[in-house]
This record gives sequence, structure tokens and C-alpha cells, in this order.
Amino acid sequence: MDAVSNSADTALRARAARVVPGGMWGHLHAAKLPEGYPQFFARGEGAHLWDVDGRRFVDFMCSWGPNLLGHLHPEVEEAAERQRRMGDCLNGPAEVMVELAEQLVAMLPHAAWAMFQKNGTDATTTCLTIARAATGRRKVLVARGAYHGAVPWASPSLLGVTAEDRAHLLHYEFNDIDSLRAAAREAGDDLAGVIVSAFRHDLGRDQEMPTVAFAVAARELCDAAGAALMLDEVRAGMRLHTGGSWELLGVRPDLSAWSKAIANGRALSAVTGAEWLRDPAARIFVTGSFWCGAVPMAAALATLRVVQRDDVPARIERLGRMLRDGLAEGARRHGLGLRQTGPAQMPMVLFDDDPGARKGEVFCATALRHGVYFHPRHNMFLSAAHTEADIAAALEAAGHGFAAVAAT
Ligand SMILES: *Cc1c(COP(=O)(O)O)cnc(C)c1O
Repeated sequence: MDAVSNSADTALRARAARVVPGGMWGHLHAAKLPEGYPQFFARGEGAHLWDVDGRRFVDFMCSWGPNLLGHLHPEVEEAAERQRRMGDCLNGPAEVMVELAEQLVAMLPHAAWAMFQKNGTDATTTCLTIARAATGRRKVLVARGAYHGAVPWASPSLLGVTAEDRAHLLHYEFNDIDSLRAAAREAGDDLAGVIVSAFRHDLGRDQEMPTVAFAVAARELCDAAGAALMLDEVRAGMRLHTGGSWELLGVRPDLSAWSKAIANGRALSAVTGAEWLRDPAARIFVTGSFWCGAVPMAAALATLRVVQRDDVPARIERLGRMLRDGLAEGARRHGLGLRQTGPAQMPMVLFDDDPGARKGEVFCATALRHGVYFHPRHNMFLSAAHTEADIAAALEAAGHGFAAVAAT
């Protein structure tokens, strides 16, 4: 299509290809999104995005998680702007760091303390370091296929990673108690902890909520071993429950890793933890040049106050259910088998009999042309800025997408 090949996006990709390896890195590597998807964006407002060619989309990726309240949310922006006028990167943190830690400790029943970083990977990695420092042990149990970040111990790619980087990881299957116990037996008296995602949200497969039995087994196993139960809340955090995702199951972790949504799009992550890990958390050495940045912390404080005041998880769950029900109905009308799994506020939409997500790509590429940004194999996200009108627009675009899939 000439409209696409002559676009500002295409021109930027060509320039990027000359000065950025591969033109883009990681999850945004262009090959992973269907034809017609933009790589470059001009602006965002509420639940809407504009690409560099001026196309407007109702957005269901929400910056891949961070956008929880909507782009340019007035209360968050005002708090960030007030802090920006006073200073962001100073010789140490601003007062807001203490207020933010107080806010998290007040919101999260499992947490006696909080510390801050920049990226989710910083937070998950810090959790492992604290668990190992606290126990003096090395082994950490990780669910096979789970994503916990983009550093050698966690990256989904083994290129440039050594076996030694992963020497002390043992694997279990999410929701499989026997496999968890077997991994713990293998770790023996060297078990430092278990890291587990708030729910199973692996790329390209059906999502799974943890069963209560699995969560309880993980808790008991850690208690019996004196090991740390680490909950990776980086993706799910503040979308399922304002007190932590496993409050839904009645199981409390020892450590939680947070990022993505906590500052509504600004760079911030956090580790929150139980009392028994306070001392090791104080003794390890972790830091970063930008970890004291005050503007993201001010944004996070404002974000968390809105999340709690407006019960954002309940709002986005209701909208997510509208979307889910409408998609199910649309698929049925076209005789298509559709699987929608996991929490409604973080939709995963996969077609039956669809190796390589080819149907998903046709569906998404068609919806995109009708102004709606979906993803064919990654979980999506609702934001509090989505309205019923946005859901209606999404279902209208999805109708065209289903028709296109049915016609292939
Ligand atoms: C995104 C993500 C991470 C890594 O966070 P970054 O901010 O990208 O470093 C870790 N765990 C989960 C579950 C994630 O979704």
C-alpha cells in the first residue's frame, strides 16, 4: 500500500535502521507486529494514541502496561509538574520518596517497607538479591516460560547469555504443585526463594490465574524452607487488586516487584517486602544514577491515590468484561473459535487452530485500519481512561476483523 510505504513511520524506520541495530530492540522489533502497525507515535491522550502519520487509535496496549489511568491524566500530570518545578534529579531523593513508601506500605498488607528503582527488571533482580542475602542460599525457583525481565538471568533469549548466568535457577510449571515441590527438593538446603508471576501471562498462550491450592503450596513451601516467596507484580500490579494481586487468593508474598503501571507511564519500579527481609534489604548494595528521581515518585504517589480512591481495578474489570463479552459474541456470529483467558482487565485473545497467530494477525491488522490497536499474541491492557464508547468502537472494529478472518 502506497499510503503505508510513503508514510512518516516508514521514513523513520529507514533512518533508525541506519543508526539503531535492527532499527528497534526487544519486544518492539517490528517483525513481531502485523503489517500496517506503526513503530513511532506522536502523542497520547486518555485511552487514545496518534502515530506519526496522524492516525488515531483506541489503545488496548496501554504502553504495554504502564498507562493505567490514561495518558496525560490531569492529577498525575499536575503532581509531576509541581515536583518538576522544584527538581527531579538532585543529590538524593525528595520528601516524596518517604510519602510514596508510606503510601505503598499502607496499601499493601504484605509490605512493611518499600524501596525504589527504575525498571521492572531492577525490581525482580533486587528481589532475588534480597532473598539470597537473607538466606545465604543460592537457588531460586522460576516458572518455565515466565517473563521476569531483560537481563541475563531472566531474558527470554539465550544469545549472549552464559550458563553460569543461570546456574542457580530451577524450573517449575505454573500452577503445578508437584513440579514446584520437585524443584524445591532439587534445591535442597540451598533454596533462597520462589519467584512467581501474579498470574500466568506468557507470550502467545492462554493466560491462567493461579489456583488457591498452588498459591498456598508456594507459601507453605517457602515457610517450611525459610525461603522468600517473591511475587512479580510488574505486569499485573494495580490492575487486579489495590492491595496486591494475591490478596484475591488470600496468600501474601514476602517480596513483591512492581513497575509498569505504578507511576502511570513514568519510569519507576519498587520492591516491597515483609518485616523479616528489612535488614537484608538494607544491607545489599543496589542503586542507580536515576533511582532517586523525584518526578516519577510524585507521579506514582498521585497515581496510587487515584487507583485507591476510584477503585481502578473494579472499573477496568467492568470495561474488560464488556469487551470480552462483545468479542465472544462477534466471534460466535462469524463461527470462529476464540479463547479469552485470564483477568478481563488484561485481555488475551487467541483464535482456535491458529499456529503462528496468523488469524490473530489478520484480525488485528483489520482492527487497526478501523482505528483500534490490539495485539495478536501478547496480553493487552485496559486503562481507567477507556469509556463505554471506546469499547463500542473496539467491538465495531473487531467485527471487521472477525469478518476478515472468516473470509480467509
Ligand atoms: C515488563 C515485565 C518485567 C520487566 O520490567 P521492565 O520494566 O521491562 O524491566 C518483569 N516482569 C514482568 C511480569 C513484566 O511484565
